[in-house]
Amino acid sequence: MHLELLTIGTELLLGFTVDTNSAFMGQRLGEIGVTVSRRTSIGDDPVAIRAALIDALARSRFVITTGGLGPTRDDMTKKVVAELFNAPLEFHDDLAQALIARFAKFGRVPAPSNRCQSEVPKGALVLPNKRGTAPGLWLSGPLGEVIMLPGVPVEMRGLITDEVIPRLRERSASVITKSLVLRTTSIPESSLADRLSAVEDGLAPLTLAYLPGVEGVDLRLTAWSVAGDDADRLLEDAGRRVREVVGDFCYGTGEQDLAALLLDELRERHLWLAVAESCTGGMIGERITAVPGSSEVFSGGVIAYADAVKQSALDVPSESLREHGAVSEAVVRAMAEGVARKTGADVSIAITGVAGPGGGSSEKPVGTVWVGFSVLGEVTAQRIGLPGNRYEVRARASQFALHGLLRRLRQV
Ligand code: AMP
Ligand code: MG
Repeated sequence: MHLELLTIGTELLLGFTVDTNSAFMGQRLGEIGVTVSRRTSIGDDPVAIRAALIDALARSRFVITTGGLGPTRDDMTKKVVAELFNAPLEFHDDLAQALIARFAKFGRVPAPSNRCQSEVPKGALVLPNKRGTAPGLWLSGPLGEVIMLPGVPVEMRGLITDEVIPRLRERSASVITKSLVLRTTSIPESSLADRLSAVEDGLAPLTLAYLPGVEGVDLRLTAWSVAGDDADRLLEDAGRRVREVVGDFCYGTGEQDLAALLLDELRERHLWLAVAESCTGGMIGERITAVPGSSEVFSGGVIAYADAVKQSALDVPSESLREHGAVSEAVVRAMAEGVARKTGADVSIAITGVAGPGGGSSEKPVGTVWVGFSVLGEVTAQRIGLPGNRYEVRARASQFALHGLLRRLRQV
C-alpha cells in the first residue's frame, strides 16, 4: 500500500515553517508498512491545491493533506476537496455543539468564523480532534481517497496516531519497514566506516546509514518491507554485530540521550556528580538538569570562566595557571578535584578549552579541549582536538565529556 502526502501552507514554501508534519507521517506510516511514494508542499492557493490533488490522486489514488482546515480565509483545503469530489459541504450540528462546549471550558463562545469548521463534505468520515477545533476528514470517491488533517503539528500527530494509523493498519499488508538506530560518539565517521567495513557487506538485506551530527554519528539499520517478526529479529541480530565492532563508542539506541544514560549509571552506583565548566559555560550542567530526576544524583557545578574564579571557587593553584595556562592538564585536573571536594560529590567532570573563533595558538589551536574526571578520588585527564565553529566545539566537548565519564563508570 502506498500514498502521497500533501502539506498545505504558504509558510512552508517561504521557509518560515519547516515541514515536520511530513517527517512524522512518513515515520508512522512506514512502521505499519504504508509507503509514502511522494510528498509535495503547496501554498494556500485553491487553484494550486486543486491541481496538486488531481496529480497526486491520478498517480496514487490516496492522499493525506495537512493544513488549511482553520477558520480563516487562507484555509481552503476542505472547500477544494469538496468541490473536486462533488461532495457539497453539510453543516453538522453535533460538531457545532462540541465546538461550543470546547469554547465554554475556556469561558468563550465560538466566533462566527468558526461556523465553517462544523461543515463536512457529504459522505466524509469525521475524525474527532481532541486537541483543536478542526476535525480530520476522510473522503472517498471515484478519484480515490483523501484524508484531511489540521496543520498544527500536535493536532495532526494526535489524529494520525488515534484515528488514521489504526484504520490503515487493518488494510496494509503484514510487511513493515522498521529501523534500529545505534548512537555513537567520540569517534569520527571515517573511523566508524573502517571498523564497520568488516561487517557491512553481511548486513544485507538491511541497509546501513551514517547520520553524523554534533552529538556524534547515529547508525541507522533499516529492514525494508519484511514481515513484522522478521524485522525485529533481523535488526536485533545486525545490531549485535555492529555493536561488536563499534565497541563502547556506541552508548545507546533510538533516541536515548547520553546525559540520561549517564545519570542512570550514577543512580545505579549511588554516586553523586558535580561539574566544573570553563569553555562550555554550563552546557554540561544544562544537559544533565534537562533530564527528569537529575536531582537524585547531581550535586551542582561551577562555571569557572575567569582564572580568578578557577582559583577562588575551585582552588586551582595560581602557579598551574601561570605555568601551563588555563587550557592545560594541570588546570583541568585541579578543576576536577576542586569541584568534587567543594561539593562533596563522588565523581566530577571538568572541562577547559579554546572554543574559538579567536584565542587559538599553534600550540593550542581552536578546538583544543582538556577534559578531566575525578572518580572516587582518582583523577584522569585527556586532551582532544575538536572541529567546528564555536557552538560545535562546545557541544562536541560536552558530549565527549559526558561520554568519557559514562565509559569510565561502565568499566568499573
Ligand atoms: P493550518 O492548519 O493551516 O491553520 O496550520 C496551522 C499552523 O500549523 C501553521 O501556522 C504552522 O505553524 C503549522 N503547520 C502547518 N503545516 C505544517 C507542517 N507541514 N509542518 C509543521 N507545521 C505546520
Ligand atoms: Mg494554514
